[in-house]
Amino acid sequence: MSQDINVGSHIWVEDPELAWIDGIVINTNGAEAEIQTSDVRTVTAKLSKLYPKDVEAPAGGVDDMTKLSYLHEPAVLYNLATRYEINEIYTYCGNILIAINPFRELSHLYDVYLMERYKGAQLGELKPHVFAIADVAYRAMINEGKSNSIMVSGESGAGKTETTKMLMRYLAYLGGHAAAEGRTVERKVLESNPVLEAFGNAKTVRNNNSSRFGKFVEIQFDERGQISGAAIRTYLLEKSRVCQISDPERNYHCFYLLCAAPLEDINRYKLGDPKSFHYLNQSSCYELVGVDDAHDYLATRKAMDIVGISENEREAIFRVVAAILHLGNITFARGEEDSSILQDDKSKFHLQMTAELLMCDSQALEVALCKRVMITPEEIIKRSLDPLGATVSRDGLAKTIYSRLFDWLVNKINVSIGQDPHSKCLIGVLDIYGFESFKTNSFEQFCINFTNEKLQQHFNQHVFKMEQALYKSEEIDWSYVEFVDNQDVLDLIEKKPGGIISLLDEACMFPKSTHETFAQKLYQTFKDHRRFVKPKLARSEFTVVHYAGEVQYQSDQFLDKNKDYVVPEYQDMLSASKCSFVAGLFPLLPEETAKSGKFSSIGSRFKLQLQQLMDILNSTEPHYIRCIKPNNELKPEIFENVNVLQQLRSGGVLEAIRVKCEGFPTHRTFTEFLNRFATLAPEILEGNYEENVACKWIMEKMGLSRYQMGKTKIFLRAGHMSELDARKAKV
Ligand code: ATP
Ligand code: MG
Repeated sequence: MSQDINVGSHIWVEDPELAWIDGIVINTNGAEAEIQTSDVRTVTAKLSKLYPKDVEAPAGGVDDMTKLSYLHEPAVLYNLATRYEINEIYTYCGNILIAINPFRELSHLYDVYLMERYKGAQLGELKPHVFAIADVAYRAMINEGKSNSIMVSGESGAGKTETTKMLMRYLAYLGGHAAAEGRTVERKVLESNPVLEAFGNAKTVRNNNSSRFGKFVEIQFDERGQISGAAIRTYLLEKSRVCQISDPERNYHCFYLLCAAPLEDINRYKLGDPKSFHYLNQSSCYELVGVDDAHDYLATRKAMDIVGISENEREAIFRVVAAILHLGNITFARGEEDSSILQDDKSKFHLQMTAELLMCDSQALEVALCKRVMITPEEIIKRSLDPLGATVSRDGLAKTIYSRLFDWLVNKINVSIGQDPHSKCLIGVLDIYGFESFKTNSFEQFCINFTNEKLQQHFNQHVFKMEQALYKSEEIDWSYVEFVDNQDVLDLIEKKPGGIISLLDEACMFPKSTHETFAQKLYQTFKDHRRFVKPKLARSEFTVVHYAGEVQYQSDQFLDKNKDYVVPEYQDMLSASKCSFVAGLFPLLPEETAKSGKFSSIGSRFKLQLQQLMDILNSTEPHYIRCIKPNNELKPEIFENVNVLQQLRSGGVLEAIRVKCEGFPTHRTFTEFLNRFATLAPEILEGNYEENVACKWIMEKMGLSRYQMGKTKIFLRAGHMSELDARKAKV
């Protein structure tokens, strides 16, 4: 672009703080330029690093990036910033919707009146919106009889869950049973959100209502386009939060809700001030601004009722939640010979309460907490745990009970909503954690980033590979664009055998392994892998070069976190609970599995779940929404350029923009095209034309150019389709 730049040119130049700043070239000297920036500084930069600025760009920005006259990184960024300033939080990038979190209520944006307007409207006819994307997915499903999916991504706090809820509300509006009252399928689907949020969301430093699990909601439709069933799948609940939180974060919302319950419930569960519970008082944050826990407790119970959880079950669920709080307050002191005993009367009280609430034997609970049965080839011995061991064991029990409870809720909701076995079409909505790179990254980040690699590949394949392959097979002129394929990272992680997950499973099965031997094995195996780096002086850290950047992982807890193992004593004790709900969370396992001690691998199971998700996604027509978090303060009106650019990059938006603009985003077989648009030129129906000739005829009659004819398909530039649809609507 640099050849267009002269003295007096309006340009964008790189800036360490703002990423890009606009300015005017005041001097050039060979390959260098001197620039006066808009904040009145003089800087020099290489001509080749400058980008032209569109001085005629509309004041309020453009609603689709593909309409920018100069499409480059600064233009994209500036367009988003300009729009954000006037509360235009949605912008298209071709078919991708970019949504920037407003961090303020924009209720006018989501009312029923607006839903009605988006119903059946062409994409691009109205302002960009989540409703528009949901509408396109729904129409595509109805018209083409194909399943669709909407993938919502972005980092923590970017607005994925809020966006997902809007999508679901809109789909329920389109496919709901207008005349019906009471607990309709769509009502249950919508009310599943507050229930899952109460048990699966928590305040973190990044988001006051952070989802600590991934979610895929599959909404099934019947042949009339009405919602006939739904299935919710969840992924990797963060278990460690149940017993370990750091200031100023919180534990799962449900604990605080329960502590704010009406007095009657508080007394029944012997609860009280959340500050008195170890699982809550590790952080000094108890209340959230703008959240009324007492109100939300009742609201959650109401929502649980609507999704089909009975009064008895609700009582049992909160009883289990209370039991976990009491369990966390049991502490241990050193007994004889490295054994542990309950520390004091307080601990005895909490042990009693835990046992009462779980309706299991308090003696058995105490033994299970303090001792461990060891099976050796010769004998079965009971070994005492030291106080630290007993504490770890206690926390393990809390995590296991909580995650079983969460899984129970998801399963119950699915059973209650019901699946439609006859449904041929579905719309899937994916709300799953985005790429994470923190100061310390553990197994959770590893799994999350693995997910993002998978989704990125899906995105790549869809946007790039399929286009390329198609252009090639259709013999279309198409300058081959390069894109970053991440198959090599995926191989590194999931290849069987030999990938990181496989090696981790091997390490977990070998009793003598430590995280250090595991790390050594990784260093040896991948010393020449271009996506794997052993950091200098590292003994157990390793770095993966992800598509969105390098992430250094601390391997020290990988082995423990990969093992999904319930101590048999706990299993026996809880499956013998007099409360059928609690016993039901711990169904008896067949003798061999229980005794074999064979561990089940979280990593491998997650990999399998992810593959199943990808299989579903691959069988659908995808739509993408990229959520952006404009600042880390979670405040309105602050738009941090560098931060936003990083997110546009890791969400693949910048890459997609490049490719989109170069290609032909829409293609249809001649037959499909004619079926849809023949009415624009009724005269062709009279003559006996070849299909491709007829297609050309229509395009020329409409005055549209720059399309291409393939062997079986017509290839349209962005905007052609909506133009044709609009013209058709006027016929
Ligand atoms: P996580 O990965 O942590 O779950 P998330 O991407 O799901 O994050 P949300 O919980 O959807 O993020 O959004 C965070 C907060 O941002 C919301 O609680 C809400 O306050 C605000 N927010 C997000 N989207 C909108 C919106 N469209 N309008 C108003 N506020 C919003
Ligand atoms: Mg969320």
